[in-house]
Amino acid sequence: MAAPKVAVVGAGVIGLSTALCITETCPSCSVTVLSDQFSPNTTSDVAAGMLIPHTYPGTPIHVQKQWFKETFTFLFAISNSPEASEAGIHLVSGWQVFKNTPKKELPFWSDVVLGFRPMSEGELQKFPEHRFGQAFTTLKCDCPPYLLWLEKRLKAAGVQMHTRKVTDLWDLHSEYNVVVNCAGIGAHQLVGDEKLFPVRGQVLKVHAPWVKNFIRDGDGLAYIYPGIHRVTLGGTREKGSWSLSPDPGTTKDIFDRCCSLEPSLRGAQDIKVKVGLRPSRHCVRLQREVLSRGGVKLLVVHNYGHGAGGFSVQRGTAKEAARLVGECIATLPGSSSRAKL
Ligand code: FAD
Repeated sequence: MAAPKVAVVGAGVIGLSTALCITETCPSCSVTVLSDQFSPNTTSDVAAGMLIPHTYPGTPIHVQKQWFKETFTFLFAISNSPEASEAGIHLVSGWQVFKNTPKKELPFWSDVVLGFRPMSEGELQKFPEHRFGQAFTTLKCDCPPYLLWLEKRLKAAGVQMHTRKVTDLWDLHSEYNVVVNCAGIGAHQLVGDEKLFPVRGQVLKVHAPWVKNFIRDGDGLAYIYPGIHRVTLGGTREKGSWSLSPDPGTTKDIFDRCCSLEPSLRGAQDIKVKVGLRPSRHCVRLQREVLSRGGVKLLVVHNYGHGAGGFSVQRGTAKEAARLVGECIATLPGSSSRAKL
């Protein structure tokens, strides 16, 4: 019996993580990644890549926590290995600060990150406009290196990568047994999902190697996330905007907001501006679907709509998508041995 053929559409962090989990859970599968863009031209390349979860209103908190925990555990192991620098994964400590004490002082992820605690009076003196804060250590992915590292691992596992724009998932039915849709915001057009909308984000990537701690304003509109080579300054959240053009006025606002949190950034150099569209939805679409035309079927697994938190839940959602792929394969004719995967 031939190996089951799986196509993953999309080469952002979700498509690549999902392809990796499929190779791990179904070593007998032949996996191909099809994407119209690869790194450095995806939304995932623009992201700051911090592991601080975003909340999906349509998903139970215990599920979101599980996704985050699985992702944290996976990336923590990489950060603690000789591959850390190539993969662009590192621990980073810092502060989330609030002008007013939040109603809920403990976020659901507080016991997943490391050393979560209220900030001391001494630490708060650094932020004269803020009254309350949380200190913790989390992980950060430097996005383009991490995507390249994932691609390298996939190639080593025998995964094929092809540049191809898919205009209809059905076009893949004669070539693949299962298709996994990880098209990010591209799923709006690809599968006509009206519940999926862009939340435009503009960020600055600057050279400021003296900035070692992350700082995030609890309102989410000012953040400073130091990476291995560059510091990401953000940000904006413009719901419904499809514009990928940087706005100079927004660049100045972001820079000023970040300098009021960390005045030394006035000396930052080599400022590069990036824009990305967060693929937002009230919940991640993580489900199986059977497409059927003229009695012919195509098994599909969707894994898109990660909004502002794709890096934070990449591994957890990828594992669930791989499990759903396993269920699809188990339904294929002559699959009794495959069901064991
Ligand atoms: P993408 O990276 O957009 O990948 C989609 C892929 O599908 C691309 O390769 C694309 O070419 C391909 N594709 C689309 N349509 C088709 C088609 N029809 N045919 C073939 N291929 C197709 N998240 C965090 O967890 N932490 C952060 O700190 C963080 N910071 C962010 C900062 C900004 C400014 C932005 C914009 C986002 C941030 N995010 C962050 C969110 C994160 O970037 C996204 O959740 C994540 O990148 C989504 O990944 P994805 O793979 O679904 O989408």
